[in-house]
Amino acid sequence: MRIDLHCPVETRGYELTRDDRGKTRAYVRLFNLSGRRVRRLEGQVHFEGPEGEQSLPLAQDVDAAPRQMFTLTLALPGSGEGLWLSFTKLRFEDGRADWIGHPSRLIQIPDMPAPDGRELNRLMAVAGRDAVCFPRRTGAYWVCVCGRPNAYRRQRCARCGRQRDQVLTRCSMAQVMEEQPLRTPSGDAIELPLMAPPPAQAPGEDSPIQRLHRRFLRQRSMLLRRTLTMLVIALLLLLAAWLAGVVRQAVQPPQSIPPVKIEQGQGAV
Ligand SMILES: [Zn+2]
Repeated sequence: MRIDLHCPVETRGYELTRDDRGKTRAYVRLFNLSGRRVRRLEGQVHFEGPEGEQSLPLAQDVDAAPRQMFTLTLALPGSGEGLWLSFTKLRFEDGRADWIGHPSRLIQIPDMPAPDGRELNRLMAVAGRDAVCFPRRTGAYWVCVCGRPNAYRRQRCARCGRQRDQVLTRCSMAQVMEEQPLRTPSGDAIELPLMAPPPAQAPGEDSPIQRLHRRFLRQRSMLLRRTLTMLVIALLLLLAAWLAGVVRQAVQPPQSIPPVKIEQGQGAV
């Protein structure tokens, strides 16, 4: 795998399909590691062509939300096997400076050996369900349990946010295979994921809790406005009814009281 460890977008996989006319279409899954929306990608598509490795220029508008997966669809000549992408420029929605890459920053990282079934179960019990490999440390980079290589000076994984030192000490194969996992009364292992912090927050961007709080305030304010409106309408209706009663009484002539015939009774004897 060749990768620029500082690129804010990473390739997570791809699928290839071939139509009746032999044209290859690649569906490339990418992940926006940054806290900013990406609107354009420029770089190169590399793949195995009929005459060895081949490259094509890549320049595509995208709508990649912060910390989310997105997909690119590419039409390729040949089989498209061995596909990988390198980026030279990323444009963000917020209009701030583009990210500029350079081929000289690409480094080759060997594929990480996949743990066997038992090892993977133990690793997932310790590190979390997204763990795919034991961590590795070299001078230039470290590979997280989620499979993401990171520059060694980076103390948190760019993909999952786990802490470098915690991962390297607690999730080594020796440590994981020695550690006795906690079990429920029924014997199932209790997962003890390393605490992955929330994704990095871009300056000026609200955290999920702040967004929830703002939504709550908006809903409360709307409820108050509705209640006040209903109260005002009810008061106006009452006032209108009272006024109608007053007017009705004012225009109706006073009812004359018929004379009452008083019969004089005969006194008792
Ligand atoms: Zn990670």
